[in-house]
Amino acid sequence: MRAYAFRLYPSKTQQNELEHHLWTEKKLWNTLLEKTKKRYGEEGRFYSQRELQLMVKDSGLYSQSAQAIAHRLHRALQVKVRAKNRGQKWGFPRFKSFERMRSIYYPQSGFSLDEKLQVSQFGEISIVQHRAIKGKIKTLTLKREASGKWHAIFTVEQELQTPKTNKGPAVGLDLGLNRLATLSDGKIIQNPHHFRALEQKLAAAQRLLSRKHKGSHNRQKAAKNVALVHEKMADARKDYLHKSANWLLSNYSKIVMEDLRIDEMAQKGHGKGIHDASWGMLTNMLCYKAESAGSEIVFVDPKYTSQECSGCHSIVSKSLRERIHQCSSCGLVLDRDVNAAINILTRATAGMAGSNACGDEAIAPSLKQEAAPFRAR
Ligand SMILES: [Zn+2]
Repeated sequence: MRAYAFRLYPSKTQQNELEHHLWTEKKLWNTLLEKTKKRYGEEGRFYSQRELQLMVKDSGLYSQSAQAIAHRLHRALQVKVRAKNRGQKWGFPRFKSFERMRSIYYPQSGFSLDEKLQVSQFGEISIVQHRAIKGKIKTLTLKREASGKWHAIFTVEQELQTPKTNKGPAVGLDLGLNRLATLSDGKIIQNPHHFRALEQKLAAAQRLLSRKHKGSHNRQKAAKNVALVHEKMADARKDYLHKSANWLLSNYSKIVMEDLRIDEMAQKGHGKGIHDASWGMLTNMLCYKAESAGSEIVFVDPKYTSQECSGCHSIVSKSLRERIHQCSSCGLVLDRDVNAAINILTRATAGMAGSNACGDEAIAPSLKQEAAPFRAR
C-alpha cells in the first residue's frame, strides 16, 4: 500500500459543505462518546461494534464515513480495554473540537477519480494530480489542513513490479547536523539552506500572532498565516528529502546507515527536533523507495562510528566540535564525518550489520496513522 496526496480546490459551496460534514462528524463522535460513557457508568460495559454501527445509521453523513467514525471509536475503546486488562492506567477517548476533526474517510466507495474528483455528496471537486497514480485506488481521505487547505489522500495497492537491478556501488551514510549526510566516498548532501528565508518568515508570522488579542478575528487570521508558513516549510523540506533520496537510490545499490533510535539520537546530543524529523523522513523515504530502485538499505550498530579510525580501527576520541579525524596510530587524517561514513559502510560488509531490512517500524510510520500521511509537521 502506498499513499498519494493531492491538493484539492473545492468551490466556496463545496468548502462549506465539507466543513459542515466535519461538524456533523464531530457531533457524531462526541454524541457516541457521551452515550458510551453513560452506558459504561450505568452498566459497566461498552457498546459492541454492531451496536455502534446501528447508532450512526441516520447521522446524515455518507454511510461509509459514518461507519468509519463508529469503527474508529470502537477501536479506540478496544485499546483502552486492553490497557485496563493489563492493569494499566486508562481513560476514555477525548471529545473532539472542530479543529481536531480534520478528515472525512471513504473506505471503499463513494468516490471516483478522473480529471476531477467525484465524491458522493460533494460532487466534482477540482484536484491537481501532480503525478500519476500507479495501482488500484483503495481508500480516499479528504483532509483539511490547519491552514484551511484541503487535500485528497488516496491509498493505493501497488502492482508488483519486476525489480530493477542497480549496478551502483555500496555507500555509507553519516547523518549530521551541519550537513544532512556525508557519504563514505566523500560526497556531501547539504542541509537545505533556502529554509532560512522561510524561518524568518515564520518568526515574523509568530511575532504578529503573539501581538493579537486572544479570541479576536485578527488572531485567527494570524494563526492561519503561521500554519501556512509551517506547511510551506514542511513541503519544501519534504521535497528536498525526496530529491536527496532519489539521487542516492539512483547512484548506489546498497546504502548503509546507522540504526539510530530516537533515544540514541538524544543521547548523542542531537536533540534538535528538526534534524530528527529530517533524518527520520529521509530514512523512511529510502526504505520505501529502495525496492523499486533495486537498491538495498542496511542498518548497522552506531556505536563509536565517529571515534573509530577507519584506517586501523583504533579508537580516537574526539568531541563533537572536532571536525577532523586524526589518527596517531596509522597517521590517517580525514574529515570526521567521512571517517564515520566509511566505518558505517565497513560494518555492513564486515558482517556487523544489525539488520538488512527496513522493519515495519521504519517504513513510513505516518502511513499507519489513520488518514495522516500528509501531516504538516
Ligand atoms: Zn588509524
